[in-house]
Amino acid sequence: MKYVLFALLAILAVFVFMMLICVVRAVKVKKSPSEKKPAISWTKEEEEKYAKALSEMVKVPTVSKKKGEEYSDFLKLQEVMEKLYPNIFQKLEKHDFEGNILRLWKGKNSSKGAILLMGHQDVVPAAEKEWTRDPFSGAIEAGCIHGRGAMDCKSTLSAEWSAVEELLEEGFIPEEDIWLFSSVNEENSGGGAIDAAKWFKEQGIRLNAVLDEGGAVIGNVFPGLSQPCAAIGIVEKGFCNLKFIAKGAGGHSSTPPKNTPIARLAMFMAEVEKTDPFKRELVSPIPEMFTSIAGHLIFPLRLVMSNLWLFKGLLSKVLPLFSPMAGAFVRTTCAFTMASGSEAPNVIPDEAYVICNIRPSVHQKAEESIEVLRNIAKKYDIETEVLLSRDPSNVSSPEGKEFNYLKKCIEEAIPDVVPIPYLMTGGTDCRQFELVSDNCLRFTPTRLTPEQLAAMHAANESIGVSALAEGVKFYKYYIQNR
Ligand SMILES: [Zn+2]
Repeated sequence: MKYVLFALLAILAVFVFMMLICVVRAVKVKKSPSEKKPAISWTKEEEEKYAKALSEMVKVPTVSKKKGEEYSDFLKLQEVMEKLYPNIFQKLEKHDFEGNILRLWKGKNSSKGAILLMGHQDVVPAAEKEWTRDPFSGAIEAGCIHGRGAMDCKSTLSAEWSAVEELLEEGFIPEEDIWLFSSVNEENSGGGAIDAAKWFKEQGIRLNAVLDEGGAVIGNVFPGLSQPCAAIGIVEKGFCNLKFIAKGAGGHSSTPPKNTPIARLAMFMAEVEKTDPFKRELVSPIPEMFTSIAGHLIFPLRLVMSNLWLFKGLLSKVLPLFSPMAGAFVRTTCAFTMASGSEAPNVIPDEAYVICNIRPSVHQKAEESIEVLRNIAKKYDIETEVLLSRDPSNVSSPEGKEFNYLKKCIEEAIPDVVPIPYLMTGGTDCRQFELVSDNCLRFTPTRLTPEQLAAMHAANESIGVSALAEGVKFYKYYIQNR
């Protein structure tokens, strides 16, 4: 009895001690500054000028092209850009190819290396009937610029270019070389970016940092966090398309056997949905993301987020219960997207298939994630065909010099937001430049409302006029203070 009591007391002591550590860590956790005055500002006239420039660019419909396809729409856009940004066209070295823009702004000291600013020219198609305005009107109304590409990604492109144009007008010369790149096919698997990255490699050019679209300034990132976050994408999940094929005897639907191809596919999909078979883990940048926001949360949540050494395992298990996005942060995801069976309602097919898109996580890459599904499929006598397979990108360090510089710029220029490293569940051109850079950072410094975020690749895309101006001034600040 005495020993049991001792054991219980020991467990209690350890528990109290651990809780004490947690509380101390939660109290000490740092907050990003938020009361500071922003280091950037702009006038109403500037706001109007930037909005007009973006509006002109949105008016040219540059729907994404596959590599090798005709790209004259993009040359029209470049004619417009030449009028908007004459200094860039006159003073920067031109290395364009197949509609893709590649320009070099020579720095004072090339031995300091180079950086690359990116934003693609192409847009996804717009189904006009779903839009309240003409998708290519570029209308400036109700404090926003409207149209396909207004956010993704001509806002990034025009903000970067407006910043560089202004700096050229002011006679500013950067220390490092600054490259500008803009592809014609980001939305179409990124052939332009692949070629550009190879070209940099062939030239022996390493890039200190690559700054592309991806994250932005967004609100409601985490329950209990009132400030918006500046989400800096430092890694992209993988991307695979898989086809699962079930075969059987087929025949007339009036005398059906058991386990027809479609029934087996259904059982297979139900098992995948129900068991959610992928490994759940909290790997970089998710722990760093939680640590960055911890100081801004209410105490119980802060206690958990600032003590991931203790709660990491538990969080990785429960996060998928909160939202699909939270689930996508901790494991490979799988969505069944296409299916096919017989041609007629009264014919049992002798072959049926479903296609799924999976997004492999950093801790369970493409091959391993595919194997998980292949093993479940085998139980139902279903074949697996890999249509496309891509691993997650590298992870750019959230502790590195370049990440910290970007974070510092955010804290100084937009101090009311919390910079966080972020895992991208989608893809960008940026990952191609891993070939020549260890710091591929995906962040556009513009504020997006939840509606604007939801309109990405959907109807009624727009961006705020003042959000755009803030973006231009941010890029200037980023370039000037390097
Ligand atoms: Zn984009």
